[in-house]
Amino acid sequence: MNKAVSINPVTEETIAEYDRISTEDANSKIEKAHMAFKNWKTTTYTERAKLLYKLAEVFENNKEDYAQLATLEMGKTTQQAKKEVEKCAWICKYYADHGADLLKDVLVDTEASKSYVTYQPLGVVLAVMPWNFPFYQVIRFAVPALMAGNTGVLKHASNVQGCAFAIEDAILKAGFPEGVFMNLNVPSDAMEPIIAHEHIVAVTLTGSAPAGKSVASIAGKHLKKTVLELGGSDAYIIMADADLEAATDLATQGRLQNNGQTCIAAKRFIVLDSIYDDFLKLFTEKMKCAKMGDPTHKDTVYGPLARLDLRDELHKQVEKTIEQGGKLILGGTIPEGKGAYYPATILANLKPGMEAFDEELFGPVASVIRAKDDTEAVALANHSKFGLGAGVITRNKEKGEALALQLEAGNCFVNKLVASDPRLPFGGVKESGYGRELSGYGIKEFVNTKSVWID
Ligand code: NDP
Repeated sequence: MNKAVSINPVTEETIAEYDRISTEDANSKIEKAHMAFKNWKTTTYTERAKLLYKLAEVFENNKEDYAQLATLEMGKTTQQAKKEVEKCAWICKYYADHGADLLKDVLVDTEASKSYVTYQPLGVVLAVMPWNFPFYQVIRFAVPALMAGNTGVLKHASNVQGCAFAIEDAILKAGFPEGVFMNLNVPSDAMEPIIAHEHIVAVTLTGSAPAGKSVASIAGKHLKKTVLELGGSDAYIIMADADLEAATDLATQGRLQNNGQTCIAAKRFIVLDSIYDDFLKLFTEKMKCAKMGDPTHKDTVYGPLARLDLRDELHKQVEKTIEQGGKLILGGTIPEGKGAYYPATILANLKPGMEAFDEELFGPVASVIRAKDDTEAVALANHSKFGLGAGVITRNKEKGEALALQLEAGNCFVNKLVASDPRLPFGGVKESGYGRELSGYGIKEFVNTKSVWID
């Protein structure tokens, strides 16, 4: 296909078509990013921070337009799209405020007259990004990478090229030099020569495990570092002492936000036996009441999935789970009419070996699992090939913390939905990926951590 097509998942109408670029054109852009790097790496942290504050302003000033574009291209509610743009501004300000400090030299006491660790940029970093947070996922990579002195090229998801070009434009509007950040509108099957390009020094990917494996294996062949933020099937343990109102509010919000398409969304609810029936009843009532509809309407809780094929794939996973013995409590039927809609769905009595237990379900489908005690709850939570986020809901914070420490995931929250935060590292273990984004850990992923010794 020589065009990337943006289709409104509400109306199924084409919004725009974006011409793909050839491998030669992609190579020229990588060359340009490499040339830009030569100057960019000599700028000071203060200069870079100034531009990041400007970029934050661009996001704040264009919030409505960017949010509208995200809603049109992938169906998230406009309210949530605005929050996403605000978060982009927050990331810019966070690294403008703290980037220099996070990257300052570290003196080390040795026999040398002076020895220290310094963090130097690497060059052009390639980012392969998904459509689910079409602004934020890119900014989460780009801002620390640029603050560290790298330049970046983006291969964004094919269905959100409008957002991809809007980000490129925002970075230019903020005053960053030409070439420090560019969108490459290329299809995923054209990535091998791009990853292999001599001036691509590293690759970061957010998306599915298959995409991560494919990109990381090519990068590995060419000895290039990768950071992978892949899917999750996050477990939330609902302890016997949990406040059921609060727990079911959290569960409903966690499963429906971003139309159910968040890597760290609460997906598997592991509920202690003594409260299982009450939890399921209340959770079902709340999921049932949540309004599905036009994502531009204020009272809509969740809109359609991002693409029809993703909706159909999700439905197949639900059907498979039911065939395997899972019990359908709510939803599970594709609504009539236009749009990639899928209703809030609850599957219960789930066990390992069933599709909804083992795999990531990327949509408003909740999996409810019964555990006889805390030990079994932790074992069930950890019985997953994924390990991105996990949560514990309990009135006993100490116990919650003790369980959080036993969960095999990169982010474990007690009494709160897992969310990324620039002050904390973000990433996974197992098939949820490796490496970290955000905080000091994230900004140091794409630097040469150099030891300097003056005898
Ligand atoms: P993908 O993981 O396939 O896409 C994410 C990004 O990777 C896109 O830019 C895509 O490009 C690119 N990509 C895909 N395959 C390759 C490849 N072999 N080489 C290089 N780049 C590649 O997500 P999908 O949109 O297909 O969604 C499928 C499933 O992935 C979802 O149902 C969900 O389970 C999971 N997912 C998880 C996300 C997360 O945040 N953890 C985000 C998005 C999806 P292109 O669009 O051109 O194919």
